[in-house]
Amino acid sequence: MIIDCHTHINYYDDDNSPALPTTLEALQREMRRNRIDMALVLTSYKVNPGRPSIRDVVLATRDLKDIYAVAGVSYAKCRRETLVELREYLQEGTVRGLKLYPGYEPFFPNDPALRPVYEMAAEFDVPVMIHSGDTFDARGRVKYAHPIHIDDVAVDFPEVKIVICHIGNPWIRDCMEVVYKNSNVYTDISGLTLGNFTDRFESYMCKQLQDMLLYGVEPDKVLYGSDWPIATMESYLQFIADLRIPEKDRNKIMYQNAARLFKLSIGNSSLDTGPVFKWFGGAKGE
Ligand SMILES: [Zn+2]
Repeated sequence: MIIDCHTHINYYDDDNSPALPTTLEALQREMRRNRIDMALVLTSYKVNPGRPSIRDVVLATRDLKDIYAVAGVSYAKCRRETLVELREYLQEGTVRGLKLYPGYEPFFPNDPALRPVYEMAAEFDVPVMIHSGDTFDARGRVKYAHPIHIDDVAVDFPEVKIVICHIGNPWIRDCMEVVYKNSNVYTDISGLTLGNFTDRFESYMCKQLQDMLLYGVEPDKVLYGSDWPIATMESYLQFIADLRIPEKDRNKIMYQNAARLFKLSIGNSSLDTGPVFKWFGGAKGE
């Protein structure tokens, strides 16, 4: 069983051609080819034909049992109406988390203006994924994307579960500390490379991740994600294989943590899912 908790269906080199339905079909094809059982699709902080809105992604995925949406929230454009709309999707279970993009947009994650976003995440008990580390776009401003700023949010909102995306790369040690210190903070390993890993970079990253798991970050706090289509699914699965994680920990990282956090029903009674699963009863749109 594999859940990829971090994928996108955006066009990264063309804002003007409509991404849907082509990119969603490509995602489904890649999932089949790589035996990925479930995926979360994260929408962008900007909306244009190449970057579909959360509304369009919800409409395109609401009848799929293996793809769920995570709503990208723009710091600059978030209005009361945005939250009203998101609330509806959170209520029906079509949206399973929120995503913020500090660095891509110039704001720190602990900005007081984001309080309503964190409060909504607490109310619906959905994780807030926060971009962290290097930006794919050179116009990003990385001081905002340093994982250390996420500690403040973790402390101010202890009931909100937070996912630091991309293990804060290259600030992996800082990310480690924030995850280690705060029981409500997790991290995903997505987006560590563009396209395929080169051999040298892969062994470097393997070492970083092995160190992270060795020196204090519990496997319960780490989630598998690829950042497809920015990184390929094949190279990510190879990367995981090369990590040589013990099977018990591997299962946590590959699907159990994501299933628990995003309340994804995976039809496996051996999971300690707790009562939260009953809220959604598995299928979405119910
Ligand atoms: Zn991403």
